[in-house]
Amino acid sequence: MKAATVGADKRVAVVEKDLRPLKANEALLKMECCGVCHTDLHVKNGDFGDVTGRVLGHEGIGRVVEVGSDVTSLKIGDRASVAWMFEACGKCEYCVNGQETLCRSVINAGYTADGGMAEECIVTADYAVKVPDGLGSAEASSITCAGVTTYKAIKESNVKPGQWIAIYGLGGLGNLALQYAKEVFNCKVIGLDVNDLQLDFAKELGADVVINPAKEDAAKKIIELTDGGAHGAVVTAVSKAAFNSAVDCVRAAGTIVAVGLPSESMDLNIPRLVLDGIKVVGSLVGTRNDLAEAFQFGAEGKVVPKVHMRPLEDINDIFDEMIDGKIKGRMVIDFTDK
Ligand SMILES: [Zn+2]
Ligand SMILES: [Zn+2]
Repeated sequence: MKAATVGADKRVAVVEKDLRPLKANEALLKMECCGVCHTDLHVKNGDFGDVTGRVLGHEGIGRVVEVGSDVTSLKIGDRASVAWMFEACGKCEYCVNGQETLCRSVINAGYTADGGMAEECIVTADYAVKVPDGLGSAEASSITCAGVTTYKAIKESNVKPGQWIAIYGLGGLGNLALQYAKEVFNCKVIGLDVNDLQLDFAKELGADVVINPAKEDAAKKIIELTDGGAHGAVVTAVSKAAFNSAVDCVRAAGTIVAVGLPSESMDLNIPRLVLDGIKVVGSLVGTRNDLAEAFQFGAEGKVVPKVHMRPLEDINDIFDEMIDGKIKGRMVIDFTDK
């Protein structure tokens, strides 16, 4: 089978690979598609360590074609996900208290296990989440990482219907954050991005207000507009400036949820933290249950990921486009015609 693997010189190598036989708790997926995420860019560049030869991809959707002898959660013909949280231990304090994404022995698809950017993929069946009928595979692929990550982040912000939420960064994650915030959580949404192309896109998707922080003082404008500040902020932007602005833009008792991963520190004024009772929390993807919920909202048509199908051969071009900020929505590798 053909697979997109981490190659030399920060390039992706499309290679022929043979899969090992299935273990009793595993399922074999014939992949239909796999989204291309910013995290894949870090993995293939070796930013998290050298994983040369690893099959990329943690936004995969495939159809079950074979199951191991112990598998009861999936059957042949089901569609299921290949997600960043590929497998956890199932026994530690995090796994048993509903925080399985923080399991210290978690395995990540497309990083510490071979992922879904291939014609076939072996998954641990109990950790592959079934895709509901009514949700297209391409749309489901986008929800498998970007969708569930932002859905979970908005949950963590604790915003209530009618309240204001600021979404910093409107790319692959942010445009889904905006849709979950509006259509599922019934919030008033402020979209922020330094790229006007993404702001236009956010307006099309129903953002109540859009702001370009490169052109005006975003926090000041948000405080004026919302009569005191947003109730919550979700930062998907990979920029320290966005995190700092988010801290400034929330009202007292507001929550800032960190999702983007710039490799630097943010400024956090301690009197601001204490006297205004603001909260800063990190949020990492979502549990299997979060993903099932995020899929269901997609199946109900509340959230419609904007996807563009691309052939596997385009993978290096897609990363170049990602670096240049030219991508609107999600690029998804199509494995169905081959
Ligand atoms: Zn991702
Ligand atoms: Zn665990």
